[in-house]
Amino acid sequence: MHLLVVEDEQTLLQSILEYFAQEDFICEGVVNYASAVNKIEDSVYDCIVLDLNLPDGNGLRLLQYLRKLKKDDCVIIISARNSLKDKIAGLDLGADDYLTKPFHLSELNARIKALLRRRSQHTSDILIAGIFFIDLAARTATCDGQKLSLTKGEFDLLVYLVNNKNRVVSRQAIAEHIYGDQSDNIPSFDFVYSQIKNLKRKLKEKGHDDLIQSVYGLGYKLSL
Ligand code: CA
Repeated sequence: MHLLVVEDEQTLLQSILEYFAQEDFICEGVVNYASAVNKIEDSVYDCIVLDLNLPDGNGLRLLQYLRKLKKDDCVIIISARNSLKDKIAGLDLGADDYLTKPFHLSELNARIKALLRRRSQHTSDILIAGIFFIDLAARTATCDGQKLSLTKGEFDLLVYLVNNKNRVVSRQAIAEHIYGDQSDNIPSFDFVYSQIKNLKRKLKEKGHDDLIQSVYGLGYKLSL
């Protein structure tokens, strides 16, 4: 599970990140509006924990922007503003839940898990896009009805590209999506390059030579 925490209070941010890392989430944290915008433009998260009062912007605007991008990452607002008006505004803009500060991390955890459970009941485990039929639960994929034999990394990469089809995704975004924040420690993106290369080769074997394009200096695009 991939979690983004947007919170400018460093101590709270750190404790949330540490808690959820232990729960086996891949966690990323940002402390302001501008970095949060970059993260949501580049990646897809299972859940975003969003503070409303940020030094350079309002979390509600970020939520609006997320929906404008047609992304449906789960969002749980954490805020000290406990007025009914703010809660309603947040929920109206498409937040999935609202937790008033201060709270126990175990409550945040329970709420996030409840959201993700509800979400997985609603969304199908099957992803169909163009020629691809992907079973996310069984982790199998076919292209034009032909089975693709993919490694774990190639499968995650394909799902990520399909979810971001017809858009350019950067190597950085791919690395972060597949490896989380650990990608900061990897000196080069050679591994992304080699996984892209392998995936392209496997698609070519099925007769699809040009689905994944390299966009010079920017990244890759899957056209469907
Ligand atoms: Ca704040």
